[in-house]
Amino acid sequence: VLSYDLSIALLHEGMVSRDGSIVTTSLTMIDVHDIARSAVTYGVRTVYIVHPSPHLRSLARTLTSHWTSGYGSTYNPNRREALGGVSVVASIDEMLLDLADRSSGRSPRLMATSAKGGGDRIAFGKVFPLMNKEENPYVLMLGTGHGMSEALLARADYYIEPINGPTPYNHLSVRSACAIMLDRLYRSQISERPAG
Ligand code: SAM
Repeated sequence: VLSYDLSIALLHEGMVSRDGSIVTTSLTMIDVHDIARSAVTYGVRTVYIVHPSPHLRSLARTLTSHWTSGYGSTYNPNRREALGGVSVVASIDEMLLDLADRSSGRSPRLMATSAKGGGDRIAFGKVFPLMNKEENPYVLMLGTGHGMSEALLARADYYIEPINGPTPYNHLSVRSACAIMLDRLYRSQISERPAG
């Protein structure tokens, strides 16, 4: 039984671009699909697709409603289940209001992620005990482009350590990074459980 209250935010505004400027990135449909499927697998409550553009929010809603109530919902019920957990919002503030509303006012805690090293980081193994103890809703913030700007990182309550593999190559897609992080968080919950 899961005892965490975890949501995901896929962010697009306030991202670093290739040249280091701060930009809004576009929405990638495969990210929505794959993150939604990983989220359901690991018991994530809501996947927030956060985008300031009304056109791209509308596109995201067209995708989700195709699979949740349109033709796709009968064609592939597994996708209906996954995309049913997706919520499309304009900003982090809108997401926080929605989460607080659905959590009897308990204030959501933001957890930033990045491939880069540095900063005051929390180990994956420490995140679950924290979530369990505080009973607040938690949000795993995922960046796009070349990752989150310093201003965005500064909004987070916690900054999780990067995923590192055994090689120096560190260029995971956001959807792959998301799946790996969910598995690391879930595994740390299992290892916390008393034996027997
Ligand atoms: N250099 C960028 C950075 O600062 O993370 C890479 C951006 S990556 C294409 C997009 C998002 O995927 C990141 O913002 C983060 O949420 C996630 N991500 C990618 N690789 C990661 C890693 N090794 N550890 C943790 N998160 C990662």
